Amino acid sequence: MMTSHKTAKKQPDQYTKELLEDLFSPADDNISSPQDLAADIKQLLEHAQNTEMTAPIVDLFATLKHARFSLGLTPVMFGISMDTLILLSEKHQRIDEHEVTVGGRVNQALPIVQEANQRVAAYLKTKGSEAPSGIELWDTICENMERIKSDLNIGDEDWNTYAGQIKNCVDSVEKLSKVVKLPEPVIKNIGHVIKNYRMRLTPYYASLIQPQKVNDPVLLQSVPTAEMVDNIGIEIPPVAADHSPARLIDQFYPQTVTIKATNMCAMYCTHCLRIAHIGKKDHIYSNKAYEEALDYIRKNPRIRDVLITGGDSFVLPNKIIKKILNALDKIDHVRIKRLGTRIPVTVPGGSIQSSWIFWKKAMIISPYGWSPRSTRPRKLLQFPKMLLNESPKVSVPY
Ligand code: SF4
Repeated sequence: MMTSHKTAKKQPDQYTKELLEDLFSPADDNISSPQDLAADIKQLLEHAQNTEMTAPIVDLFATLKHARFSLGLTPVMFGISMDTLILLSEKHQRIDEHEVTVGGRVNQALPIVQEANQRVAAYLKTKGSEAPSGIELWDTICENMERIKSDLNIGDEDWNTYAGQIKNCVDSVEKLSKVVKLPEPVIKNIGHVIKNYRMRLTPYYASLIQPQKVNDPVLLQSVPTAEMVDNIGIEIPPVAADHSPARLIDQFYPQTVTIKATNMCAMYCTHCLRIAHIGKKDHIYSNKAYEEALDYIRKNPRIRDVLITGGDSFVLPNKIIKKILNALDKIDHVRIKRLGTRIPVTVPGGSIQSSWIFWKKAMIISPYGWSPRSTRPRKLLQFPKMLLNESPKVSVPY
């Protein structure tokens, strides 16, 4: 008779084995357990044994871990044997829909989540004052725009066009310190970091930053900081050779690929997953490079979803976007084509000229989807509602 997936005996994985070994590692027998902790653990054990839930098992293991590492107490001192915990770890894995092990949960997932929670705790406390919305900041933003136009000597025509915004972009500490008033040590630090990481903000985007606020979220998203240097290889992905099976292609899932069609962006984001591919100079790619990328997609019938990005796909001339989309149209197995862009939030969308640029792109790509990458409502301030309403397949992440 076949044993069902749900009733088959589960072997403890490496995480669980390590956790059990640590819990039962030799301890000083003379330490006695506090009575209230012993009572708590007894109750947790009963709950874990008598319910078909994973949380009581996790609570029991987490409490035993705390008792072992903070108080020097082993499970044996609470009358719990290794066999009892092995049975509970099997039960946890059997109940969990994805067969997650209690060791994985207690030793890996929970510490990562707890660390992340600590990191955002300070932000959540000050969110109201540190990260007001664009509507709340509207007067400041208007003042910023006028001040930046004057400080960088930008006329209305340049301000209101994509080309003018790029021509006057903020790409040096000298310009940055003119447009965003920041303390001297912060500016010095940024100067050091941008020797390795590229900085570019459109003057419009710089106007969304609150002056004097070193923790302004739009500033942190657009200006490289020393934290990026500290986090190389941890939070900053290295050049992803292991995820690039072909020229210009990144692939993390069998069905979905990214074509990195350009390395140019209207701004360079500090959170960019492709930061290692951006390089220090703008590059135009050859037809051969696009052809190799398209060939890879043609030869792989599993690929259904293609994201054209970069860089920012909207900085590409229309004819290149059209060429790529037309080629993808001819590949039967490709069902979804998406264009990734941040341009709608990095140049002033209220101007007729720049709206028209977006609109023309949107017309080209319709009925394709496109995803303006905005992570903060402040950035959608001037983006014409018309484009969001009328372009059929726009998705704004959040
Ligand atoms: S716009 Fe997109 S591709 Fe360019 S730096 Fe930002 S996240 Fe990366």
